[in-house]
This record gives sequence, C-alpha cells and structure tokens, in this order.
Amino acid sequence: MLNSPLIVGAGPAGLRIANNLLRAGFEPVILEEHETIGKPVQCAGLVSTNILKICDVPKSCMLNKIYGARFVGKNASTLILSNKVQAFVIDREAFDKSLVNDKVCILKGHRVYKHEYTKKGIRVMTERSAFSSKLLVDCSGPKRDTKLLTGIQARVRLPHDPTYVELHFDACKDFFGWIVPESDEISRVGLATAYKPKEHFNAFLKKLNIDKIIELTGGQIPVSLASFCNDNFIRVGDSAGQVKATTGGGIITGLLSADIASKAVVKAYECNNFSKEFFLENYYKPFMKSVGKELKLHAKLRTILNSIDSDSLVKFLERNKKILIKHGDMDFPSRYAYKLATNPLNWKILLKSLYELMRTMY
Ligand SMILES: Cc1cc2nc3c(=O)[nH]c(=O)nc-3n(C[C@H](O)[C@H](O)[C@H](O)COP(=O)(O)OP(=O)(O)OC[C@H]3O[C@@H](n4cnc5c(N)ncnc54)[C@H](O)[C@@H]3O)c2cc1C
Repeated sequence: MLNSPLIVGAGPAGLRIANNLLRAGFEPVILEEHETIGKPVQCAGLVSTNILKICDVPKSCMLNKIYGARFVGKNASTLILSNKVQAFVIDREAFDKSLVNDKVCILKGHRVYKHEYTKKGIRVMTERSAFSSKLLVDCSGPKRDTKLLTGIQARVRLPHDPTYVELHFDACKDFFGWIVPESDEISRVGLATAYKPKEHFNAFLKKLNIDKIIELTGGQIPVSLASFCNDNFIRVGDSAGQVKATTGGGIITGLLSADIASKAVVKAYECNNFSKEFFLENYYKPFMKSVGKELKLHAKLRTILNSIDSDSLVKFLERNKKILIKHGDMDFPSRYAYKLATNPLNWKILLKSLYELMRTMY
C-alpha cells in the first residue's frame, strides 16, 4: 500500500498534481501508458498569456506569439487584433516535458486497465503490475461520460500572417475550424465536431487549398463536466471534462483545476478522509466557485454560439471589437460577458440565442 496517491496519466494535469504533492512532502507515483512524455501530441498548442501566471514556460517551448484572431463566416470575416500579445503557440511535447520533475516517480509503459475497491482503499491494475493506495487521481484524458467532440488536425505548409489565428465558423455547425500559425510558413490546421469529423475536415482542407500534410493528429475534446468525485477517487483535467466549451482549450483550466485538487488531496491525507463527501466539499465546491463557474459560462456561450449562423456571429464580433480588444479573455469569459450583455446593440441577437438556450434547458 503506497502512502501517497496514485496518479494515472502524465499529461499537464497529472504532472501538475504530482509536482504540487511532491512540494507538500508526498511521494506521488504516476502511471503513464506511453514511453515518452508529451507524445502523441493531440493539441493545437494555443494558450493565452494567462499561462505565465500559472507556470514557468521555457522560451524553447514558445514557437509563436499571437495578437488576435480572424473570424470567418460563410460570406463575412473580421480581423480583431490587439497591440498586445494575447496568446502563445507552444510546442506541446516540450511543454509537457518541462512539467516533469525528476523527483516524481513516473512509471512509463503502464496502461491502467482496471481499478477496484479494497478494504483499505483502491487497487489499480496495469498490464505489467498492480498498485494499492488510499487514493486514485485519474488524469488520463477524455472519458466517454462527457460530451465529446472529435478533433482532427494537420500540420501543413501554408503561408500565413503569424500574428493571428483564424477561426472558421462555417467549417462545421457545432464548433469551428482553426488555423494556428507556428510561423509564417507552417500552420496547424484543424477542426472539431461531433458530426462527421473526417468529412468536415477534408472539406475544410479543400476550402484552404491544402493538399499536402506534414503530420496528422487528432483526439477527443470533452466539452461538458463529468462527475469527478467519488470514494477514494477523483478525476482532474480532461478526464473530468474541465475544458472550455467555447474553444476546446483545456491546458490552463486543467492546470488550475489540478491546483484545487492538490489542496483537497493534501487535506484528505491530513484528515485521513477519502470519502466522496469529503472530495465534494474540498474539491468540487472550491472548483465550482472558481474554474467551474467560468466553465459553466463557456458552456452557455457555446450554446449561444451554436444558435447563431456563421455570418451573424462574425458581425456580432465585429460590432464588439472594442470590448473584445479591451476586456476579451480566452479563459475567463466573466471578464467580458457582462459588457457584451449590456451593449444595447447586442440585445436582439442575445434575446434570440437566450430563447435557444432556454429551449435546450427544458
Ligand atoms: C485536436 C486538439 C486540439 C487541441 N488544442 C488545444 C489548444 O490549442 N489549447 C489548449 O489549451 N488545449 C487544446 N486541446 C486540449 C488539450 O490537449 C487537453 O485539454 C489537455 O491535454 C488535457 O490535459 P490532461 O492532462 O487532462 O490530459 P492529457 O494531456 O490527455 O493526458 C492524459 C495522459 O494520460 C495517459 N493515459 C491515458 N489513458 C491511460 C491509461 N489507461 N493508463 C495510463 N495512462 C493513460 C495519456 O497517455 C496521457 O499522457 C486540444 C485537444 C485536441 C484533441
């Protein structure tokens, strides 16, 4: 029986928790199915500058600086550019590797296929071995009990202004297609949707006249919260659905959630209490007061965005350019949502989407 929690998954969420617990005097163990941290990459690597408030990002991980976005509808488009850096394009494999602390025990090549309750806690089985602990922290990525989108992405040679990303609302109905430039020559072109992802992705590449792919990746994107507290068991990051439903971004929200979960884990060991009720009180509740509140707003915004046709959405953004440049925040929509809602020019479109929102709720 280990005296520290067992963490499944050495992605950003799992590594962050392990590092926090190490600092708190634990000896956490991570079980990771792959042999190389950060691989395979399933990410566009776009993170807002908020990342710098959360962790050190080595310069070598930063490939490009982003100042804004071009939003594209069926017939309309608008470019919203700030004079300040808004986001970074990162090398995701290098970023994950930068989160590795050599003092944390990471058992690579251990795919967890089962866990079961024992009298003293929980037992976890991998194809190579079995481990027991009082607590299992599942950071193993997207799960089927959340609403999932399928993301497909190609790394391509595409001449592009490297200062802005592109969001193509006309690429599919329930999300968008993206161009994230690594440089003025190489971009990550992708799309996520719950419906016919391959067909939509191929059509998107065709629209952009892309026929040569350097590298193809893909993965699931959870866009709803899962139930993530149980006896001797919590989930963090994508596994818990702690991802922004507006953009599919989960790096920053996963790291912030990992910090909240880490505090609950430390307290659980101090109190020797690993019950579901304990984690609801010490992890779920503080999470919902901070990151969770924002994620709920992201989910509502996603419902609104999906109820507006692509050109009206572009015009809406164009109309609110000044607010977005001054107050826009990729991670915390509460910082600008009120300003958008109180602009009388938005009331007609917001009322229409509010009606859609109510329709989905009842
Ligand atoms: C196409 C695409 C584009 C994206 N673009 C962005 C973006 O631009 N910006 C952004 O912020 N987010 C983006 N995301 C989301 C982001 O990649 C995730 O939110 C983030 O990786 C979640 O981190 P995590 O640690 O929770 O899970 P993961 O990074 O998925 O890590 C989970 C780890 O668990 C391991 N694992 C899985 N199952 C097992 C098992 N059974 N046993 C042992 N180990 C296991 C995996 O190998 C992996 O190392 C994108 C996602 C996709 C699919």
